[in-house]
Amino acid sequence: MTQTAPSSPVGADALAVLARLGVSLATGGDLVASSPIDGAEITRVAAHTPAEVAEAVGRAHEAFLTWRTVPAPVRGAFVRELGELLREHKDDLGRLVSIEAGKILSEGLGEVQEMIDICDLAVGLSRQLHGLTIATERPGHRMMEQWHPLGVVGVISAFNFPVAVWSWNAALAFVCGDAVVWKPSEKSVLTALACQALAAEAARRTGAPEHLSQVVVGAADVGEALVDDPRVPLVSATGSTRMGKAVAPRVAARLGRSLLELGGNNAAIVAPSADLDLTVRGLVFSAAGTAGQRCTSLRRVIVHRSVKDELVRRLAGAYESLPIGSPLEPSTLVGPLIDAAAGNGFDAAVAQARAEGGTVVAGGSRDDGVAGGTYVRPTIVDMPAQSAIVETETFAPILYVLTYDELDEAIALHNAVSQGLSSSIFTLDVREAETFVSAVGSDCGIANVNIGPSGAEIGGAFGGEKDTGGGRESGSDAWRAYMRRTTNTVNYSTELPLAQGVEFL
Ligand code: NAD
Repeated sequence: MTQTAPSSPVGADALAVLARLGVSLATGGDLVASSPIDGAEITRVAAHTPAEVAEAVGRAHEAFLTWRTVPAPVRGAFVRELGELLREHKDDLGRLVSIEAGKILSEGLGEVQEMIDICDLAVGLSRQLHGLTIATERPGHRMMEQWHPLGVVGVISAFNFPVAVWSWNAALAFVCGDAVVWKPSEKSVLTALACQALAAEAARRTGAPEHLSQVVVGAADVGEALVDDPRVPLVSATGSTRMGKAVAPRVAARLGRSLLELGGNNAAIVAPSADLDLTVRGLVFSAAGTAGQRCTSLRRVIVHRSVKDELVRRLAGAYESLPIGSPLEPSTLVGPLIDAAAGNGFDAAVAQARAEGGTVVAGGSRDDGVAGGTYVRPTIVDMPAQSAIVETETFAPILYVLTYDELDEAIALHNAVSQGLSSSIFTLDVREAETFVSAVGSDCGIANVNIGPSGAEIGGAFGGEKDTGGGRESGSDAWRAYMRRTTNTVNYSTELPLAQGVEFL
């Protein structure tokens, strides 16, 4: 590996991890890879040009033409090998996630575990890509559907789940017979290169096509080249609603498919009967964990007036005890924000919340953390109403408190934002719980009872409604998005009856 020396111990740590993961980096390039822990540059890599993106798509398409003919359970062997490599390298990759995304080590490792879990799910799925047999009105005929490989899947991902989002898409796409071209966030390039090294090794070991998995790095222009390429039938894009609103019309203009996983503004309703010990733990993890930088992070708590004072007092107490600092320290629970701009976003949101009548009851200011990084104190703001700032996703640990008297009012407040990703209710009242998860309850893609909105498992379909984009990834039947369906009618009779009784010839 030819490298200039990194400017910090964190950078040296990252380069050592990359070497162990088999990543060879060339010197130079215009894309700066740095760690939010101390803000220092780790290395530089060369961004791809749009022409290079087109070449990558071409190579992936060639790989797809071979891969689609490989039986699905055999494709599963490649994903199983990828899962084995992830198990082997879990500690290193998890550490690299912590270094590059700033999440605490147990969450970095948890993210890699999620990759392993989705590989396991995909391997099982490789024997279960089933269609239906459907009754036909015509005698001597059989009607069925099959699911066939789709083509090259373009994956665009955000910085905050720098590796899991790729695996949710890629593990399913690979067993479905697709090739994948991945454009990771420009803020998390190194973890992407590490995943690509492991995918390439899995391909070598199992004889899968060399170019089945490709990574192209760069900013929005590189993503746009992928989005506009007609050889990419599906673009799976994870990131801000702003990004999704730019990507969706471009994919639609060429009648491609998009799977969008965009911003959230997740809430929890806390009812009078809630078990407050459990509620406080659930809320603190969801709101302050990952420094509020999950798409599913809790941003609004809608609490019944009768338990509000006690809940806020307990939450504020728990917030004061949260250790903030380097995510590589085992005792830390709150790491840095991704960059200085995110810190400015935090400051601006707290100021706006105050201007809109809010009272800061915990945090509200910066924390020294590690020199060079952007650290903030997890913040709780008691709001008089669901004002403009409460309706906005600020990617930082700010929890707004709203108060309600009747459940209908709480659900109305809950649903009155443009985003629709994740949600929860804390209650021991079965009527309230069932109402919340019913058709007249939460309008989100994820609705939980007595657990917070963040920290989904891979077995369920993941995604949300409204400005969150409507896509579903991961478990359940999300695999269908990565395949094309054909309906086949087979006539095994000597007659040619037409449907709907039509007579002809
Ligand atoms: P972002 O929108 O800034 O960037 C996401 C990705 O989109 C990056 O790879 C970026 O380069 C690319 N991109 C940006 N503009 C583009 C364009 N016009 N064409 C093609 N690609 C483009 O998001 P971020 O700051 O990295 O991540 C935070 C956001 O992601 C939050 O809003 C969060 O809620 C959301 N997110 C959603 C989910 C989910 O599953 N719903 C998961 C993780 C993050």
